[in-house]
Amino acid sequence: MLSPEEKARYSRHLIIPGVGMEGQIRLKNASVLLIGTGGLGSPAALYLAAAGVGRLGLIDPDTVDVSNLQRQLLHTDSAVGKSKLDSAAARLRETNPHIELVLHPVRFTPENALSIANGYDIILDGSDNFPTRFLANDTAFFLKKPLVYGAIHRFDGQMTVFAPHLGSPCYRCLLPESPAPGAVPSCNEAGVLGVLPGIIGSLQAMEAIKLILGAGEPPLGNILIYDALKTTFRSLRLPHDPSCRLCGSAPTITSVSNAETNASASCAVTDPNMKAITASELKDMLAADDFNALLIDVREPEEYDVINIPQAKLVPLQTIPTYAKNLPKDTRIILHCKAGMRSAKACEYLSSLGFTDVTNVTGGMDAFQRL
Ligand SMILES: [Zn+2]
Repeated sequence: MLSPEEKARYSRHLIIPGVGMEGQIRLKNASVLLIGTGGLGSPAALYLAAAGVGRLGLIDPDTVDVSNLQRQLLHTDSAVGKSKLDSAAARLRETNPHIELVLHPVRFTPENALSIANGYDIILDGSDNFPTRFLANDTAFFLKKPLVYGAIHRFDGQMTVFAPHLGSPCYRCLLPESPAPGAVPSCNEAGVLGVLPGIIGSLQAMEAIKLILGAGEPPLGNILIYDALKTTFRSLRLPHDPSCRLCGSAPTITSVSNAETNASASCAVTDPNMKAITASELKDMLAADDFNALLIDVREPEEYDVINIPQAKLVPLQTIPTYAKNLPKDTRIILHCKAGMRSAKACEYLSSLGFTDVTNVTGGMDAFQRL
């Protein structure tokens, strides 16, 4: 039952037909696991806590960085450098002291996924990388729990509920396997307008609450696409893939530990033959009198304008093929980007054209800036 204080707190819920006392008690007895307390997890956690969802589990191994604050509203300036979970817990306890918070200060991995997620009714994916999204999907599938999915990129967002046990497709029906490293920029490399995760994360909180209340219809088999620049929401049919390796008729994925979930979420270069130097080595080379390499920055002009290495020539990744046509194949080339992933892609490309002296700067501008 609800205490008098809780009745007062949730009075605007209690007077909604279809929620009422029964719905509020359902919320109180429910549990949601949030993977990540970043851009999506922040609004989702705040709304779920405020709504009185009785037990919230939070997974996040990271610490608060100043670059998070532009969009991750759970965290404040005074929390920079502190653990994200401590920061989130303090903020959520301020929002609602009547709920239980369970903190999992670990990375969500194939080893711990089932045991952590098994303790919750609903999984809400606020992650920003493909291996974790696949892991959230596969975990929800094997545990037969609904997965509230959200993703963002620059000005676009998408949201749906995956629940194959309720007749919907799964994330792998949408994306059968991981994109090649470098094909899609990681959240670290791609920009995102701060309010966008606020919108998508809030939609995720709404779907979680609807699932708990049994209110309305979850978007099973549809995916909601938000285009901030055009100010449009579109609901697209997302069909079940009969040949899906997880939820199809002849599945080949039988465990949460598989190629996609075990892939590295980092931007590290994996090609062992690629020549690489650290940002610190680059700095020393630039300081030497005999520096004679062509240093190329493959980022976008907007990124170059914010900060750049004066000796670097700006050649955005897509224009590398045109630019390379006029270069002798034995040119000594050093490439960098923001974090080292796009430049690694450029290195691979130039090597494939027959360039013989191509080097990547590990960690890119981010590492260079920290020197
Ligand atoms: Zn599927």
